[in-house]
Amino acid sequence: MNHETAKHIRASLTPDCTNCFGLCCAALNIAASNDFAINKAAGTPCPNLQEDFRCEIHKNLREKGFKGCTVFDCLGAGQKVSQVTFNGQSWRDHPETAEKMFRVFPVMEQLYEMIAFIAEALTYEVSPALRDKLHQQLEDLQSLTDMDADRLLSLDMIMCRLPVKELLLETSEYVRSELSSKVFAMKKGKNCRGVDWVGKNLKGKDLRTTDLRGAYLIAADLRNTDLRGVDFIGTDLRDANLSGANLSTSMFLTQMQINSAKGNDQTILPPHLQTPSHWMN
Ligand code: SF4
Repeated sequence: MNHETAKHIRASLTPDCTNCFGLCCAALNIAASNDFAINKAAGTPCPNLQEDFRCEIHKNLREKGFKGCTVFDCLGAGQKVSQVTFNGQSWRDHPETAEKMFRVFPVMEQLYEMIAFIAEALTYEVSPALRDKLHQQLEDLQSLTDMDADRLLSLDMIMCRLPVKELLLETSEYVRSELSSKVFAMKKGKNCRGVDWVGKNLKGKDLRTTDLRGAYLIAADLRNTDLRGVDFIGTDLRDANLSGANLSTSMFLTQMQINSAKGNDQTILPPHLQTPSHWMN
C-alpha cells in the first residue's frame, strides 16, 4: 500500500448520515451537560430524532444546547452498521433488531477509530518493518468490520486495542524523532502524556513534536502556538483556543477533537481535517 492509498482510506472515513439509521442519536448513553441538554439512555432514541432519521433541530443544535452533536464523528461506523451489518434493515422497521444494532454500533465505532489511526500511521515515512506491521494491522481491522453482528459483539475490544496502541506509539516515536532532527533541527519535544494543562496559557509557545497523548488541554489558550509534529491521541481539547495555531503536521488529531475546540480561519489544520463551520460564526 502506498501513501496515496493510505491517505485515501483515511479521507474516506467520513459519516454519511443519509445511509445511517440515526444510530448515534439512539444507541448511545448521553448524560445531560453543557454539550447535551437532556439525559438520554443507551438504546432510547433522542426526542429530536425524526421518523426519517433526520434531526429536527439540526440547524440550531448549538443554540438549543446540543453542542455535542456538532462535535460527534462516527467516521462512517453508522452507515457500515446500518447498510452492511444489518443489510439496510432499520430498527424502526425491524424493532426486533434494535437492541443488537445499538450494541454493535459502539463496537464498530471503536474499530473505525483504530482504522483511522492506523491508516494515518501509514501515511508517514516509517521503517519497512513497521510499515509491514501497520499494513497487516489495517487489514485485520478491516476484516473485523465485515463480521456479522454476533461475532462483532463477541470481540474483546481491550485485546483489539493493545497491538494498535503499540504500533501507534512506535509510529509516533519514529515520526517525531525524524521530524525533530531532519526537519526542525531540534531535540524531540517532551513527553507530556496525561499532563493537566486545563485553562493554561500556552499562547505563542513552541510545542513542536511534544507528546500530548491523553493530556487535558480543556479551555487552554493555544493561540498562535506551534503544534507541528505533536501527538494528540486522546488529548482533551474541549474549548481550547486554537486560533492561529499551526497543526499542519500534528499527529493523530481527530475531527472530533477539532470540532470540540475553538479556532479561526488562521488555524492551520492537517489536510484530512475540515475547518468546523462554527469557527467561522
Ligand atoms: S439533538 Fe439531533 S443530532 Fe443530537 S442526538 Fe438528538 S436527534 Fe441526534
